[in-house]
Formats: sequence, structure tokens, C-alpha cells
Amino acid sequence: MTEMVLRGGRVIDPGTGTDAVRDLLVRDGSIVDRVGGDAAVLDATGLIVGPGFVDVHSHVNTIAGQRLQAFDGVTTALDLEVGLMPVAAALARAAAEGRPLNYGFSASWTAARGLVLAGIEPAPDLGSVLALLGDQRWQASSTAAQRSRWLHLLSGELADGALGIGVPIGYAPRAAPSEFLPVARLAGAADVPLFAHVRNLVEADPDVTVDGAAELTTAAAETGAAMHYCHVNSTSGRHLERALRTIDAAIAEGSRVTHEAYPYGTGSTAVGAAFLAPERLHVWGLEPRSIVLLRSGERIADAARLREVRAATPGALCLIEILDEANPADRALLEATFTHPGTIVASDALPVTFDDGTTDSRQWPLPAGGATHPRTAGTFTKALRRFVRETGIWDWPEAFRRCSFLPARLLDTHAPAARRKGHLGVGADADIVVLDPDQVTDRATVLAPTAPAHGVRHLLVNGEPVIRDGELLPDAYPGRALRP
Ligand SMILES: [Zn+2]
Repeated sequence: MTEMVLRGGRVIDPGTGTDAVRDLLVRDGSIVDRVGGDAAVLDATGLIVGPGFVDVHSHVNTIAGQRLQAFDGVTTALDLEVGLMPVAAALARAAAEGRPLNYGFSASWTAARGLVLAGIEPAPDLGSVLALLGDQRWQASSTAAQRSRWLHLLSGELADGALGIGVPIGYAPRAAPSEFLPVARLAGAADVPLFAHVRNLVEADPDVTVDGAAELTTAAAETGAAMHYCHVNSTSGRHLERALRTIDAAIAEGSRVTHEAYPYGTGSTAVGAAFLAPERLHVWGLEPRSIVLLRSGERIADAARLREVRAATPGALCLIEILDEANPADRALLEATFTHPGTIVASDALPVTFDDGTTDSRQWPLPAGGATHPRTAGTFTKALRRFVRETGIWDWPEAFRRCSFLPARLLDTHAPAARRKGHLGVGADADIVVLDPDQVTDRATVLAPTAPAHGVRHLLVNGEPVIRDGELLPDAYPGRALRP
């Protein structure tokens, strides 16, 4: 039996509305109401103690990436937008390697369709999914027989431990609406959440097959499925307000629609993505120079170079300058997203790619030269810095509501284990962040994307410290699978 007292911190529990200086008690990985006299003590005087952040959009399924997320206050990192297939293999691999944070995956619509439409055998790693995104065969529409085959595969993945279905249809913008509605129907029938990277908005891209926001909300109304609108910031560009209005209208009509955003104007994806084709860039007001390759730092000079890079390395990650945070109007638009009462914070974190091309390391500090989007290491601490400390649009309880409580609630129905996450009630999992309210800040930038955030003093995952006194514990791998 291991017992611990987090002593004297300001405990904020969005589950009960608690906001008071008190001790928080932990036994064997859970929050309890009493411990023995010889329990270990972790001092939290002057610090805030809250439920660790639950990131429902993290493509980081690596030790290196999860450690950066740990310093960002995250205790559970889930890949739900894209997912991995076979999910059983993804879960087994994470368990075998060990993970500092809790992990889980959705069933991958992309990989299931890649197998059926292009004969590409799925592998449970993000690299193979990124490579698939640029593949034209995968982006096609299915025949009825193909569709029933991939729907069957997805059902199998749900039975094998997937937390929902990840449907990044924005990467198959010409696919028929019949690629989306049937999978929404499957989600509704199985009562599992669907996580969507939607197609373009019609006012930005009048050629799109169907408006992305309308497709999601129509399917939510039609099927009753819980639909989660991923990174509304990056898929809406300067039409953010309309996307949020469409979501609000759907909720008002009784649909189960939720949404998330990350606090960066710059996006990131595989350079082979359909919406980065030179002839499609104008949709977002972009030009080739708005794209910077992550590993080399190369800014794409012109359309010819973009074609060349897309053909040679379609799975290579790049940054896309969608909104300019140095421009006050763009910054205001981005920040308005976080005043919307329903906006959940989620990172879209990406694995770190090192100089030798590998994407993981047990070394800490991380080997120099790693490439990723700064959101990997800084999403949550940047949100705290900007929205609590600098602009005051949130108070601390509101921050924990958006970073911990609401995201865990997305999974409650299908995965009852999620009910123990995102709050600090007795019986909750001891996934706890202890942070310095005056110091907490992101430090990752485009030029230094793996600089760990500052100000998370202690981080417990299932009751076991991963960060203690601001230092990473290199032997701590207490992460467990979150699964139905
Ligand atoms: Zn996405």
C-alpha cells in the first residue's frame, strides 16, 4: 500500500466545485478520504493542485513526446482524431514499452479504408497513417461492398479496445458524403463518440463536396451519435465564428456536439495532405511560403517545390501559418475561441522527430535537434499563461474545467473508466498536476519546439510521480491504457 499526502495546496476540483486550501490524499493510485500517519508527504504550499489534463487529441504515442506533455501538465494523452489500427497492437506496444502517461486510441477510419481501398496493411504507428494521407486511392469513395467491409473492420476495432472512431474526412475532401454518414450511424448504434477532422467550410472552399461543419452537425442530428469537432481553430481559419455558430445551433437542437481547439495560429500536418496541394492553398489564403518543413526548417519557395516535396515525402510533417498571432485581429479571433463556454483544450501534439529520423528516445533531457510543432510541449501551459494569467478570460477553476473535466466527460459513456478522470473526488484516479500559478508557462517555440514547459512542480499518474520538484523521474512509467 502506498499512501501520499499532497500538503497545503489550493485544491481545485471541477467535479465538486471545490476551490480551497487543503490536503489531498492518495492511496494506491486513487484519491481517498483518509491515509495513515506514515504516508509520504509532497509539499504543495503556495501551489495549485488539480486534476491532470486529459488531452483528447494527442498523436504522441512515444515516451519522448509524453514526457514533453507531462511538463505541460497532461496525465492522459489520447489519439482520438486519427487513431491507430490494429488498436490491440497499439495498446500492446504501449504497454510493453511503458508510458509515463495514460494512453488510448480510437478506431482508425483512415487505416480501415486504406486496407480496403488501397490494400495497405495497417501498422499501429502514426508514420504509416501520415504516409497514407497523401495516397489518392485512400481518398476515393467506396463501393457499397467496400464500405461494408471497412465498417465491419471498425466494429472489430471497437470490440478490441478503441475509445471511439477517428474520422479525419478533411483529408479525403472529394470522398462522397456516403463515406461519413454510415460511420456516424455505426457510432450512433454502438454509442461511441466520433472524432472528426472536418472538411473545409464552404465559404472558404466553394468546391468542397459538402460543408465540413454542416456534414458533422447533420450527421449528429441524423444518427444521434456524439460528435466531437477536432481543432476548430485550424480547420476554420478566419471563419471560426461561423463554425462555432453551427456547433451552437446543433446543440440547441439537441444534438451531441462538442469541440476543441489549440491556442496556436500555426497548424501542422503531413505535407502530402490534400488541402496542401498548390492549387488548393488559396482556400486558406495561403501560399507555398506559408509552409515550413519541420525537420529541415525549409520554407517552401514556390508551387513547383511544393509539388516536388509532396511527391517525394508525402508523410513529412510541416508547419502551416494559418493565423498570424503577431496580427492583433488574428490573435483576437483565435482567443475568441477560448471564451466560447464549450471549447475544450486539446493539443494535436505530434511526436518528436530526431536528427537520425527516429521518433522516440528514453534519454532525458531529449537529444538536441528534435523537431515537432511547439503545441506538443506547450498547448496547456500556453493556454494557462494567456487565458488565466495574461488576459484573465478564465479563472483557475475554469481552466481545469476545460483542460481536465470536460475532455474526460467525452468518454464517460463508452469507457466507464473515464469517469474516474478529470476530477479529484474520492475514488478518482490520482492523476494530479501541481503547478505554480505565477510561474507556469510554455517555452516551446517554432525555433525551439522541444523546450519543456515551466512551472509544473509535481505530476502524478495513477498516484506515481512522473515529475517531482520540477524534475522528471526517468524510471517512472505509470501510464495505463484507457479503454472501454
Ligand atoms: Zn487534424
